[in-house]
Amino acid sequence: MKTVSILGSTGSIGVSTLEVISAYSERYRVAALTGGRNIELLASQVRQFRPKLVAVFSEKEARSLADILGPDAPEILFGPEGLVHCAVYPDADIVVSSIVGAAGLVPTMAAIKSGKNVALANKETLVTAGPLIMQAVADNGVKLYPVDSEHSAIFQSLEGHRFCDVKRLILTASGGPFLDKGLKQLESVTPEEALLHPKWDMGQKISIDSATMMNKGLEVIEARWLFDLDASRIAVHIHPQSIIHSMVEYVDGSVIAQMGIPDMKTPIAYALSYPERLPLELPPLDLCQLGQLTFSQPDLERFRCLGLAYQALATGGTAPAVLNAANEVAVASFLRGEISFLDIARIIDGALQGHSVIEPDHVDVVLRADRWGRERASRIIHSLN
Ligand code: NAD
Ligand code: MG
Repeated sequence: MKTVSILGSTGSIGVSTLEVISAYSERYRVAALTGGRNIELLASQVRQFRPKLVAVFSEKEARSLADILGPDAPEILFGPEGLVHCAVYPDADIVVSSIVGAAGLVPTMAAIKSGKNVALANKETLVTAGPLIMQAVADNGVKLYPVDSEHSAIFQSLEGHRFCDVKRLILTASGGPFLDKGLKQLESVTPEEALLHPKWDMGQKISIDSATMMNKGLEVIEARWLFDLDASRIAVHIHPQSIIHSMVEYVDGSVIAQMGIPDMKTPIAYALSYPERLPLELPPLDLCQLGQLTFSQPDLERFRCLGLAYQALATGGTAPAVLNAANEVAVASFLRGEISFLDIARIIDGALQGHSVIEPDHVDVVLRADRWGRERASRIIHSLN
């Protein structure tokens, strides 16, 4: 029996994780759950999975949740401290980090420092504080299992091989909903169009990141720290069918890939059950019916965000935290209809250009850079309008 805490249980990854857990209730038990503002869904999860501890966005949501659950309510906490309490809750063997954005950094670090293994979906944690997180993982002797499908694919493709034989990693990208649109058309795409991902059903922020290809940029940074390889050895291929989830090229020319239908339950289950594999009731991958798998190079002119992410990684220090913060602010502003799709890259570029990079020796330095990036991005948005 493994006990699991889930940070962000009401999101897309959180819900899929609970589906895996409920299919294997004899193997997994829930310790703590956290949600943001979707209290109805969190209440139904609490009724079904009976966590001992729950955390929500603020005191207001905590009161609503307590009202809905009545006398059966577990202990309910709120705010950033509530998240940290859930992250370190002693009962859990593994913490699924599936909050969206830099809000996941502090609780994920807390889970690692309290000796928990972590199944990491929240890529922003490694984007903003990769070296600090990997140091904490080493210092505390814990395991960090990737949930992001590309990183799970690489993790699986590395199994049984010598890391010193790796030549490079090849991350695949679907290319998102705007793969075939020209620059002129991209200027006027709407949030509704951007949210319609052709292959994956995900939360709003990562869906927009997929449309700009910032998602792939964040994943290059995530891979850089997770697998300790220089960015020059991490390539990106566009692969619209999303069947090959990523590949590892070895020095002898062999390329090992992991394939499957696009469903996050596969990498989630692998992160929970590693090194075992859980039978999942998913439709089989039918390659004959698919007929062909195609690949191409990403276009960095139409998808500037990918290039900006490589640039921030090369700059190093606090630059990726600023990239991420400016992106979060710009994506939220785009979703509210305040800026155009192509403004997202302009805002991130502007924020990076004005930033004086330092080398963070503590999470607080990263959080300061995050705040700076948010303020800067907000000011740029203001000046655009
Ligand atoms: P989502 O928006 O569907 O869910 C986010 C969760 O975090 C929700 O439970 C929400 O309530 C909670 N949350 C958001 N902001 C919060 C805050 N400030 N404080 C407390 N809780 C907060 O997002 P998602 O699509 O599930 O993605 C979660 C993470 O997993 C992201 O980092 C994303 O990049 C990564 N990821 C997602 C997918 C996917 O298929 N959805 C795939 C790979 C990686
Ligand atoms: Mg991914």
